[in-house]
Formats: sequence, C-alpha cells, structure tokens
Amino acid sequence: MSDARTVAPEVSAADGEEATLRPRTLSEFTGQAKVCDNLRVFIAAAAGRAEALDHVMLSGPPGLGKTTLAQIIARELGVGFHATSGPVILRSGDLAAVLTNLQPRDVLFIDEMHRLQPAVEEILYPAMEDFQLDLMIGEGPGARSVRIELPPFTLIGATTRTGLITNPLRERFGIPLRLDFYDVDELERIVRRGARVLGMALEDDGAREIARRARGTPRVAARLLRRVRDFTSVSGASPIDAAAADAALNRLEVDESGLDAMDRRYLRCFADHYGGGPVGVETLAAALSEQRDALEEVIEPYLLQQGFIQRTPRGRMLAARGWRHLDLEPPAADGVQLGLLDAASGNGEAPEEYDDA
Ligand code: ADP
Repeated sequence: MSDARTVAPEVSAADGEEATLRPRTLSEFTGQAKVCDNLRVFIAAAAGRAEALDHVMLSGPPGLGKTTLAQIIARELGVGFHATSGPVILRSGDLAAVLTNLQPRDVLFIDEMHRLQPAVEEILYPAMEDFQLDLMIGEGPGARSVRIELPPFTLIGATTRTGLITNPLRERFGIPLRLDFYDVDELERIVRRGARVLGMALEDDGAREIARRARGTPRVAARLLRRVRDFTSVSGASPIDAAAADAALNRLEVDESGLDAMDRRYLRCFADHYGGGPVGVETLAAALSEQRDALEEVIEPYLLQQGFIQRTPRGRMLAARGWRHLDLEPPAADGVQLGLLDAASGNGEAPEEYDDA
C-alpha cells in the first residue's frame, strides 16, 4: 500500500534524501514544544550528573520524528547511538549481542517496541532496571544461567501503538513522551527549512500550500516537497508559489485536506457499503483488502484527529466532516445515534478491545 502513496507516513524507498533533511539538534527540531522542553531539562540533568539518561518511550504515529528525536538525544548527551527494531530481535541472544556492545551511557534505540517477542521482553526487564543480563546457556539438564553486568545505558523505545505495550515494559520507562500531529505553521517552517537544504526557490505561499496538505506529518511534508520539486522542475515554474504547488499536488491526487486516494477509498467504503457505520476494523480491512495494522497505525490516526471518522464502542463511524468530504449529507438519524453513543461511552473513544464488538 505505502509504495504507491505519496502521503504514506511510513518510510519508503523514495525517501533517500531523508537523512539530509533530518534536524540534528533540539534547536533545529521544529514543533513538539512540550516534549522538547522536557527533554532539555532531563538531558541537562543527566549530563550534569554524568549519568545515563533515564529510559525514554516515544509514542505517536509514523513520520512524526521519533527516530530523529532519539538521534538528537544521543547527540545532545554526547554518547553513542545504536539502533535496532522490535521485529528484528528474534531471540534473547540477539538482544544480548546488542546490549553487550554498548559503552557506558550509550543510547540504544529500539523502534517498533510493540513487536518485541515476549521472551526477549523478559530479558529486557532486568537489563533496563539493574543493568544486568540473565542468559540461559545450553538446553536440557546441562543448561545453566549466567549473569552479565552491563554498562548503564539509555533505552529509547519507539512505538506507534502504545496500547500494545505491556504494563511491565511501560512501567520501566521513566520518561514517557507522546508526539502529536504538527500544525500547519510548524509544518510550514519544516517545509521552508527543507527547501533551503535542497536549494529550492520556494515562495512562502508555496510552502504554506505544501504544509496544509502534509497530513500533519513532517515525513509527508518532506516527500511532497520533493515531488513538487520534480513537477516544477519539469514545468519550469520557479520560484514555486501556491499555484504551482497546488497544481503539482493535484497531479499527485493529494486533495485540499491532504487526503490521498487511499484515504478517500477508506472514507467512501463507510458511505457506500455501511451507511456510515458503525463498522468493525476487521470488516473494513477485509473490505479494503488492507492489513488491520495498516489501517490502525497509518490511515486512521490522522482521520480520527481531524474528525473525518469517530471511534465508538460499536466500531468506527463516518463523522460529519467525513460525509462532507465525500460531498454527501450525513443521514438524518446519524446525529441522534452519535449523541446516544457519545453519552454512553463518555467521549466516543472506544478502548481497543471494543473495536470489533
Ligand atoms: P518516525 O521515527 O516517527 O517515523 P522520523 O524521525 O524518521 O519519524 O522522521 C521522519 C522524517 O521527518 C525525517 O526525515 C525527519 O527529517 C523529518 N522530521 C521529523 N520531525 C521533524 C521536525 N520536528 N522538524 C523537521 N523535520 C522533521
């Protein structure tokens, strides 16, 4: 799915220049002001005591800057940075190899923490808490346990799904930080910086047009910027203003609200097949031939945040903004029904386990 989507917030092969655009210090990092302010304090305190920073959990949808922040934290602490990912660590031995390679106070970044194997997670607990690794060597009657002392280190875990992190793991992170979607002003600053780095002549209104349609996500903003550069370098439009950006983004089928064909297909599925819902995520995934994870991690967070859809105890529903986006009128009974559901569930948000009820 993501390969074909210009607004997919996950990394794609075409993001080759991503490293060039990555901010390298907290002062270069735009947005997430509260997160950055807190980090400044914790980093200064840890550096002042010459101790490892407490473990940090970064959560939020893909493309908002979790990896970037982890790298910045290591750089600001002046320590080494090692990166791996939950699904890559298959056995406890794999984790042991990574952990025993750390220097004192180094940062170990584990992306997709929610995909760690339970057995690997078990040996991570004492490593995080006491900087000790308990490993079983051999099998059967001859098996024995060895304890390895580790240098104090900082684990930075990233996840797009906090709900799937087990409680014992969550409790071991002293600094939980949540990243939110960026507003248009912040994205505009990110786009302008990107244009400077890429040496593009971009007018302020051109930057604003790209920012408005970037799905609240810096990775998408950077990708749209590069695609607009491609279109305008062929059409010869320079400097790039709002009209040139708009023309390029329309060619990419990214609409006024930053939604692409996949988002619209998702919204249309509600209206055409389920009368606006409520409908369970499994049913939607099957109807769209998509993975449930892709819907929950990639497509839905932005649509929820922007009020195109709603989550209720009985499933997802198309919200008034979603109907309007499809140029359709919400059914008359919809408001009454939503009112009842909201009253029953408090805020209309359902815990994960109700998704398919
Ligand atoms: P995540 O790990 O959350 O998926 P990344 O840290 O890989 O996201 O960020 C994706 C891209 O977005 C990177 O290329 C980075 O340059 C850019 N980016 C993220 N956050 C910011 C920011 N606050 N300012 C500027 N660029 C950013």
